[in-house]
Amino acid sequence: MSVGAIIVAAGRGDRMGTPVPKQLLDIGGRTVLQHSVAAFDRHPAVSELVVVLPSEFLADGRGLVGPTTHTCAVVAGGARRQDSVVNGVSALSSAVDVVLVHDAARPFADAALIDRVLAGVADTGAAVPAVRVRDTVKRADPDTARVAETISRDHLWLAQTPQGFRRTVLDAAIALGATGVVATDEAMLAEQAGHPVAIVDGADDNMKLTTRADLAAARARYLDGGRVGTGYDLHRMVEGRPLILAGVTIPFERGPIGHSDADVLSHAIVDAIFGAAAAGDIGLHFPDNDPAWKGAPGLDLLKRAVAIVAGLGWTVANADATVILEKPKLAPHMGRIRHALASALGVDVDRVNVKAKTNEGVDAVGRGEAIAAHAVAVLAPGGPAR
Ligand code: MG
Repeated sequence: MSVGAIIVAAGRGDRMGTPVPKQLLDIGGRTVLQHSVAAFDRHPAVSELVVVLPSEFLADGRGLVGPTTHTCAVVAGGARRQDSVVNGVSALSSAVDVVLVHDAARPFADAALIDRVLAGVADTGAAVPAVRVRDTVKRADPDTARVAETISRDHLWLAQTPQGFRRTVLDAAIALGATGVVATDEAMLAEQAGHPVAIVDGADDNMKLTTRADLAAARARYLDGGRVGTGYDLHRMVEGRPLILAGVTIPFERGPIGHSDADVLSHAIVDAIFGAAAAGDIGLHFPDNDPAWKGAPGLDLLKRAVAIVAGLGWTVANADATVILEKPKLAPHMGRIRHALASALGVDVDRVNVKAKTNEGVDAVGRGEAIAAHAVAVLAPGGPAR
């Protein structure tokens, strides 16, 4: 038996709501795709791999997959899942007589699961791992959205991947698909082509990443419960500029000068947030030579930074900052500053803290010629889309 594994990663994962396709999101130091590839690469029965990617990722495909022990072809996906699988099969060598088709969005397939599928293929010619339906199943009337009936769950199973096929069975399934039959998985085509398909035990933790809650749960498995980042900013203080911190104007005769509103506190927290997400820094996202950001309020940049890291699957857990300035006293304004930050960060005010320090008259900050801020932010996985 020569086993080839096709890892289908051709989807865009719209339901995750991230600009990066879900198969390229990081879980514990590897992408979802790399976890899925590794499960088959290290399985002793598997001798060939094919990864199916969206065509726009093909040029960098081998880099996205990363190093593998076995030969691994990278091919472009088709319009539908079944087209992607056809492309994957065409990249397998003629020696392969058993094919595993796996959805890259299931990064936790393990060797025991793959063993059960291969045993099912040896017995039946085709096998699908599945778990029993545990929730009560209702069928709704599409017109009224009311329950039309309660369906017995006794013989209902939820299909997972990898699905396994003798190559001849998969070829027959593909031939049926080529006649115009549309299917959500290859087992469905094999069934309709008249081949028996065995159900083998799936695995509860062989989860499919679909929503942000799934991504958070997947990261929690790797104890990737949060990321911390630091930020720092400093601006010169001059006559006739407003002193703005977290969008709050503090009455004072001097203020920081800069391309934008020179809000050091917001800028430092922006950098802490980007730092925690390993997403570069404020200058990368909001370059000061881009007119779009000329005069941009720091608090607006902060809101944008929160949205950018949300797009990478992170949500702000808390932020803490220290503003260093000689004068004026910030204590009377601290409530407004914290509330403004909490609102921009999308968190409760008890997750935001700001301290003020003087520099004891030492150096430029101490002479009142500059204002500085340090910040840390912690990002937690998941959270609502913004
Ligand atoms: Mg700045």
